[in-house]
Amino acid sequence: MSNSPRIQKAIKIATKAHEGQLRKTGEPYIIHPLAVMKILKEWNMDEDSIVAGVLHDTVEDTDLTLKEIEEEFGKDVAFLVNGVTKLGKARSSMKNLDEYLPETSDNLLKLLIATGQDIRVLIIKLADRLHNLRTLSALPPDKQQKIARESLEVFAPLADRLQMGRVRVEIEETSFRYLDPKRYEELKKLTEERLRQADKKLKNAQHAVENLLKKEGIKYSCDGRVKSIYSLHKKLAKYDQNIDRIYDLIALRFIVDDVTTCYLVLGLIHSLFMPMDGRIKDYIAMPKQNGYQSIHTTVITKDKQIVEFQIRTREMHDYAERGLAATFYYNEQKLTSAYAEGRVSRLPSNLLWIKELQETATKLASGEKVDTKKLRLTLFADKIFVYTPKGDIIDLPRGSMPLDFAYRLHSEIGAACTGARINGKMVSLNTKLQSGDVVEIITTKNSQPNPGWLNKVSSKHARHKLLSQLHSLFPNFVASPEQNAVKAALKAERAAAKKKAKAADKNSKK
Ligand code: MN
Repeated sequence: MSNSPRIQKAIKIATKAHEGQLRKTGEPYIIHPLAVMKILKEWNMDEDSIVAGVLHDTVEDTDLTLKEIEEEFGKDVAFLVNGVTKLGKARSSMKNLDEYLPETSDNLLKLLIATGQDIRVLIIKLADRLHNLRTLSALPPDKQQKIARESLEVFAPLADRLQMGRVRVEIEETSFRYLDPKRYEELKKLTEERLRQADKKLKNAQHAVENLLKKEGIKYSCDGRVKSIYSLHKKLAKYDQNIDRIYDLIALRFIVDDVTTCYLVLGLIHSLFMPMDGRIKDYIAMPKQNGYQSIHTTVITKDKQIVEFQIRTREMHDYAERGLAATFYYNEQKLTSAYAEGRVSRLPSNLLWIKELQETATKLASGEKVDTKKLRLTLFADKIFVYTPKGDIIDLPRGSMPLDFAYRLHSEIGAACTGARINGKMVSLNTKLQSGDVVEIITTKNSQPNPGWLNKVSSKHARHKLLSQLHSLFPNFVASPEQNAVKAALKAERAAAKKKAKAADKNSKK
């Protein structure tokens, strides 16, 4: 990809401005802004962002002024460079923001308000941080620790909020490697060992599915994905450090043309292999909170290998990997002033919150006084904050009821729920929760959810958990048309399993 005249001009100016400066690695400083530029190009960012990426350290570290940048490259670029510069100092402003927003640990929100502006500022900052992490080895150990910790705590969640999955994983892996090198190596070895052991069985499973897809004339691409070390580390903590309970260590990913084909492929996979109970996750019908979409199913193959399959469309795949950047790409909408002014309405609905955040942030930045209460209302119009009896804050979508809360704590707590107290009083399960409520869930051992509960949950999360429990409790349960594909596949598999079990039973009696 060749550079546009504007980018070439930016490179020339930045090179001259940084002349004589060296990085800790001993290389000329300009290597860094050029690497940031390259990352932004890979993310398909607009030209203004790329130019700002080249210039991002000039105002802070060289004699170049914002005014000169504005004269050479226009208001938008100057605006972005200024934002990135400010963000470098945002930690202190973030502290002040705690007074505005005591109830949120949402760093994205704080960062946006601290810089008072455009989401592109954060994307440039992410590219900056990514390159600094890639070259972290040149820094002294105490600096490495500090940057790695901050990256893990602030920048990885930021990438996640922007749905930039691939960037999040790289930040997490690199940071974790510096923070806990021993554990990192240990888990890496463990994963590699498992991969080696499973290699042949995985290939068999992959070929079996591929053959069937070819026979059915379905176009697809397939790759394997290995769970990242950091997310394995986090998951092991939840499962008594028992790696045998981690079923998605290795996943086979099938990417197909459209949503209908996704369900078709799910059915075909289940016709080959036995799905595991309660392990079908339909994130297409019910996307994750950050917008992630895919169907996951864990099966047991003929070689007795547990494998997770992930099925999604190309567009879903790109969103999952590249997130917000992919959105811009698909919209073919350059992020120009129209975006900064909040006139862009083509963001997908699951990203509209970004626009709202920006509008509020812009108001704050222009010195408009924003009433704290009103600010909270605007920012959290669709959210409520309730407390556990211990005082932990749980945020839920507006309209949530006790079961939403229960399922949010844990799906087992949801399943065993037999009643609820709000602020100490027994209430019925269809009571709407209000911000500030203290919610206590009463559970009874061995009690079960029932289909009537579908009217007593309102959050996607709870609905999803409840549905999968209902499916395994009531074999004939059908909740909605989009569940039918999953349902039909499950039913066929159950019947086959029963037959098998019977046959085995007969054999053993003989
Ligand atoms: Mn930099």
